[in-house]
Amino acid sequence: MQTKKIILHCDVNNFFASCECALNPSIKDQPVAVTGEVTKRNGIVLAKNEIAKRFGVKTGDVIFEAKRKCPDLVCVRPHHKIYERYSRQIRAIYEEYTDKVEPFGIDECWLDITDTVKFFGSALDVANTLRERIKKEIGVTISVGISFSKTFAKLGSDMKKPDAVTVLSKENFKQKTYHLPLGSIIGIGKKLETKLNKLNIFTLGDLAEYDENIIKKKFGIVGERLQKNVQGIDDDDVQNVDDRKIVKSVGNGTTTLVDVKNKKELRSVVMFLCDEIATRLRAKHLTGSTISVSLRRNDLIWLSKSHTILKNTNSAKDIYHTAMDIIDQIWNEVCPLRSIRISVSNLDNDDMSQLDLFNTDRNRKNLENAIDKIRQKYGYDSIRPLLSKDDRLINSQALRIEDDENENPDDDLS
Ligand SMILES: [Mg+2]
Repeated sequence: MQTKKIILHCDVNNFFASCECALNPSIKDQPVAVTGEVTKRNGIVLAKNEIAKRFGVKTGDVIFEAKRKCPDLVCVRPHHKIYERYSRQIRAIYEEYTDKVEPFGIDECWLDITDTVKFFGSALDVANTLRERIKKEIGVTISVGISFSKTFAKLGSDMKKPDAVTVLSKENFKQKTYHLPLGSIIGIGKKLETKLNKLNIFTLGDLAEYDENIIKKKFGIVGERLQKNVQGIDDDDVQNVDDRKIVKSVGNGTTTLVDVKNKKELRSVVMFLCDEIATRLRAKHLTGSTISVSLRRNDLIWLSKSHTILKNTNSAKDIYHTAMDIIDQIWNEVCPLRSIRISVSNLDNDDMSQLDLFNTDRNRKNLENAIDKIRQKYGYDSIRPLLSKDDRLINSQALRIEDDENENPDDDLS
């Protein structure tokens, strides 16, 4: 049997709002919300600080709604680049304590300190040192869960906030968590919870004690693994920092300023997103073969589909045509769209495709390389894609450009 692991899960409290307060201490004692633009439809609360929370301000509230609950609410626009910088700085502190640091979203990390804890005292010492250092050096607070598995470390960091440490040990985890609802652990979303509820499984304890054969039969490997996690048998390793540098997908999405009603309108948005993705792929010397499209209708239903093409590409045109083919299959224009997200995965290095001897391909490549150079020099907007950006639909500020370095690109709200 392997030695018991010591895993920390560190979660920055109210990440976006905390960064804004760290950046501008004059607002730190006021209720603060990070929001979209007040005049535009993406004007919702993206994050809030503890004080705003006390007034009942919630993520997803429309701004006027939030202001009604809390008239003195200070609304600030998001600064994603700055949040990324904070995220890197915080991660660098974690990496002083172990090389096994696995980020989850922008503001959470697992740390496996099994082999390194001896240099720093106890696990609790490490957790408290991190908590104090990040508060002092970065100006934000974290909650830490200490446990023997990733599942319970993460649950621990949720149990007490802000600025707190929770220990879930082999000895106490059942007593401390088995009364909690299923949704409190990672991996159980609303849909699965409803299905489990139908079997009379409501708490983590219910799941842990349920007949394993039935769980396996009904929910397959996923169910089996979740049940093991809850039982405290979780062999999932914390990924090494060096492993995560592998970019798994390059994606881009936006919430449009007004609903997109037809494919003609949608084309310019899709072209804009694809052009930007292709530029980033080329900058990283990557190509990809799986194109994924997610559309969110204005009734908030998501439509998603992927397609894998025969030859890897980093050409905006290829990505665009595949994306539009997918859209033809999943969207019939009946219900207007609110958000559009496109990503390219199954990535490979670009070296191979450069050997392609077809002239059309070479010409295209030369052209795209030239475009990239001009953009590096004069900025992205110096050359627009064939279908130019429709400013009525796209707010460049609202773009969420993402390179997926772990598997949860959507989980970046604090
Ligand atoms: Mg957080």
